[in-house]
Amino acid sequence: MAILVGVTGFASGWFTAEETTVSEVAPGVWFRKTQWKPEFIGCNQGWIIFRDFVLIIDANFPNQAEEVIKEVRKTTDKPIRYVFDTHYHGDHADGNQKFTALGATAIASENSKALFETKGIQGFDQSRKTNAKVYENLEYAKPGMYFPKKLVLDDGTQRVELLYFGHAHTAGDAVAWMPKHGLLFTGDACVNGAFNYTGDSDTASWIRVLTEMQKLPVKKIFPGHGEMSDATLLETQKRYFVELREYIGKAIDAGKTVEEIKAAIDFPFYEKWTGKKVQENVENLEHVFKEMKK
Ligand SMILES: [Zn+2]
Repeated sequence: MAILVGVTGFASGWFTAEETTVSEVAPGVWFRKTQWKPEFIGCNQGWIIFRDFVLIIDANFPNQAEEVIKEVRKTTDKPIRYVFDTHYHGDHADGNQKFTALGATAIASENSKALFETKGIQGFDQSRKTNAKVYENLEYAKPGMYFPKKLVLDDGTQRVELLYFGHAHTAGDAVAWMPKHGLLFTGDACVNGAFNYTGDSDTASWIRVLTEMQKLPVKKIFPGHGEMSDATLLETQKRYFVELREYIGKAIDAGKTVEEIKAAIDFPFYEKWTGKKVQENVENLEHVFKEMKK
């Protein structure tokens, strides 16, 4: 059963949390929205079919990568040549090896290189211990190609620009922009629902990154988690951090403790958007408090 949450202003109009869906969103451009209930199984993905090869957007967990490969094979028999990791987190990149084993190269922003080589490997090793069923016998596969700010793949049939705008959800987030169609695959720099993890983030910079993305003529957003949407999602995602920073900044000025903030904060818009009370986002509240207490 799908959980329906009324959300005005979104192209999708509701969340179907329990369904994984695959749809062709432009000719040769596919989006796989991954379920997050009853259990969180991974991130959303895209794939783009070029004349001679396929580019995957986000590797996902290893077991989900296998599912994606099956789905890709239903749409094309062209080789998977590249997998673009929007960032180093395990639910986006730990499945790299499934693609590199097929001859693909993983691509990421240069700013994420140090993260792949430290926290990325550490997270993978940890998951191999705690989740042997999914990770058993796998080697960590780092990206083999990094780009500073922009990498363009354009063979005349498809044009994809991989773009780095700055520190957002992590120091190395990049997005995939398809200018001909106005499609933006954001990874976790923009999510649709209660998915924001801020542990690696810089929320002031994240707001600037979202503002940069809003300068693109975006028609559709394919977020790292949650339903596809239109450009309004960038504004909603931004509003969350703008209001968090405003609220927590004022509370700090008024001498409030983080515990007092956690007890009092209430964002009806956030609840309407995600179905969750902002008070439950303890990790986000503590992170922004720490950022602003400096
Ligand atoms: Zn992430």
